[in-house]
Amino acid sequence: MMALEEILLHATREHWSTGHFNASESDHMRAICEAAKEAGTPAIIGTSEGEAKHLGYDIAASIRDGLRKEFQIPIFLNADHHKSVEAAKAAIDAGYDSIHIDLSALPFEENVAGVNEVIEYARRKESGISVEGELGYLRGDSKIQKEKIEVKAEDYTNPDEAKKFVALTGVNRLAIAVGNIHGISLDEPALDVERIRAIREAVPEEVALVLHAGSGIPDEQIKAAIEAGIANIHINTDIRVAFVNELRKTIGEHLDEVAMYKLDASAAGAMKEVIIGKLKLFGASNKV
Ligand SMILES: [Zn+2]
Repeated sequence: MMALEEILLHATREHWSTGHFNASESDHMRAICEAAKEAGTPAIIGTSEGEAKHLGYDIAASIRDGLRKEFQIPIFLNADHHKSVEAAKAAIDAGYDSIHIDLSALPFEENVAGVNEVIEYARRKESGISVEGELGYLRGDSKIQKEKIEVKAEDYTNPDEAKKFVALTGVNRLAIAVGNIHGISLDEPALDVERIRAIREAVPEEVALVLHAGSGIPDEQIKAAIEAGIANIHINTDIRVAFVNELRKTIGEHLDEVAMYKLDASAAGAMKEVIIGKLKLFGASNKV
């Protein structure tokens, strides 16, 4: 199987982006794989700490193994936004392929130290785990925001700091704050594409740039971000909305039905359609 690093390097060089989609149920994981298989692209499944606790770390890894057997495409399981070294280690122990250790709320030096602890732990396992660090402050959470969220100048990732951070840690991927906000914001987000370009030039090509909070960003801005060097885009809210809206509708229409697998089948289908649309937008089709 192709390593995640290799796929990301191709994406960076060829100006397309991989898609990272979050899951909290096995149905979601399957929908992500079905979409990726249909698009002909690797599946990257993310679980936040909350999503991972709901699924169970070991169970998430087991489902991934089953999906690999069934779908025969590269499937990667990422611990998304793990906010402590302990949480990241739990995901490594369970056999996750990839860790996003997000210590961006801490001062620079503490962020570097924590990321290095995770990298050392991962290397000791000799498992070829890909590690992502985060620099800059991402506001919001994965829902439809009811209030305007202001992005402040100091929230943005600084290219010089990014260069230093990468050199001091040796991360494989870097999550950056460039005007993106978690969730779907009230007003249209404005990505700082020039800043993405500057960060891309400041850090080695082998380090992939990651854009979190890809939901609710207009297509043209997504395309510009990919052109500027983004190689991995996270989508969570958009697929949550697709799943839950469809589930609500189906439950409302079938009040006597109690077989959950019948009620949520179309919800998984709605999620899959959104994912396929995103993968097309990212230029990720026909890569495996
Ligand atoms: Zn994120």
